[in-house]
Amino acid sequence: MERHALRGYGPLTECQICENLDLRSVVFMGYLPPVNRMVPIGGSLDQEPWFPAELLYCPTCHLVQLGYAVEPSFLFPPDYPYTSGTTRILRENFAELYREVCSRIGITRGDVVVDIGSNDGTLLSNFAKDGHRVVGVEPTLTAMLAQARGIPTLTTFFDRDAVETIRREHGVPKVVTATNVFAHIHNVHQVVNNIEELIGEHGVFISESHYLRDLVETLQYDTIYHEHLRYYALTSLKYLLESHGLRVFYAKRISTHGGSIRVYATKSDAYPVDPSVDRLLEEEVSAGLTSETWIEDFRERVVRSKVELYELLARLKRERAQVYGIGAPSRASTLINYVGLDEGILPCVLEVQGSKKLNKYIPGTKIPVLEESRLYRDQPPFTLLLSWHIASELCVNLKRRGYQGDFVVPLQSPHVIRNAQVEVDLSQRVGSGVPRS
Ligand SMILES: [Zn+2]
Repeated sequence: MERHALRGYGPLTECQICENLDLRSVVFMGYLPPVNRMVPIGGSLDQEPWFPAELLYCPTCHLVQLGYAVEPSFLFPPDYPYTSGTTRILRENFAELYREVCSRIGITRGDVVVDIGSNDGTLLSNFAKDGHRVVGVEPTLTAMLAQARGIPTLTTFFDRDAVETIRREHGVPKVVTATNVFAHIHNVHQVVNNIEELIGEHGVFISESHYLRDLVETLQYDTIYHEHLRYYALTSLKYLLESHGLRVFYAKRISTHGGSIRVYATKSDAYPVDPSVDRLLEEEVSAGLTSETWIEDFRERVVRSKVELYELLARLKRERAQVYGIGAPSRASTLINYVGLDEGILPCVLEVQGSKKLNKYIPGTKIPVLEESRLYRDQPPFTLLLSWHIASELCVNLKRRGYQGDFVVPLQSPHVIRNAQVEVDLSQRVGSGVPRS
């Protein structure tokens, strides 16, 4: 299938799935900087690119997409600081995915498994340690981490050449996975064409994408940034895959990235359609996601939440109560820039030792990212939880390590959790690092 040829970057005025031109504005977040371009502390501040961040809704296929596509070289610099292996929730999710694939697809030792956007090889390591043949595809230097742990990885974008190389050197894969990358790649039809070609008539494609329903229900406006070109519901994902002859046969909600959806698709008749597919589709209709009714309410809640967070932080500022940020996930950049926080309001954001984001500024600001140990030394009376989607786990972790102040949860409704309220179950060790999924 050769339709939907490569298109340029810049404003996106048509739906990336169905080419509808009549798109509706959901919310305009202003102009935002790329979330992973970070200037080192003390480095001279130079001109930086900012891009419009508007969410658009397609009434035909129900896709939600960004209104602007940024060239990948801006978004994914070679020193892209993200590695999935450092996040406990992701590690557990990939281990669970592996067990699920074994039971649902019944892969054998000789079967090839390919992961697109394989990052540091965390997902594939589950398959590799049980003797399956694996291949990763990863354009950034993170690929070297995977290679160092023995995961064969092509350091390239997932293009036609990559498909040919895999088929020639490794064979036709039984399973192709794409977790949290399917929304990132610009030419979605080209990507699905490549997947289609790679898996042939018998392979299974499994995608994990941040789920529109979680975004809307729990008001995760901070996941709106330029790496995420599309925000999928099962309805829109099914529309896309079916336009390439891929049949969705299993879907389920998972907890990664604040709420995602895992979807299995194939051309093969070997896999009957599971009731989960119709159930989730019906739930999306009930939630209003297949009409425009959700848009106005969502936009209103986003604006209200932004104002309330600023008011809460302004009150603490007036009371001269210091607030440190905790965690510098990509979403922190959107939240900080959209709400309009600066180093006077948030003097620093803390990250675990070893994070590649340390000693750099949050994009678009002069808020430095510093080591988490500072929290226990300085004991600021408040911390702003920038990984708020895992707030309860974070509070327990930070308290257990000796933090005595209170926690500001920025979303959905900004509120304070008192340190004294946080239950500490010392018998249950939650994790050694601050999760940043
Ligand atoms: Zn559409």
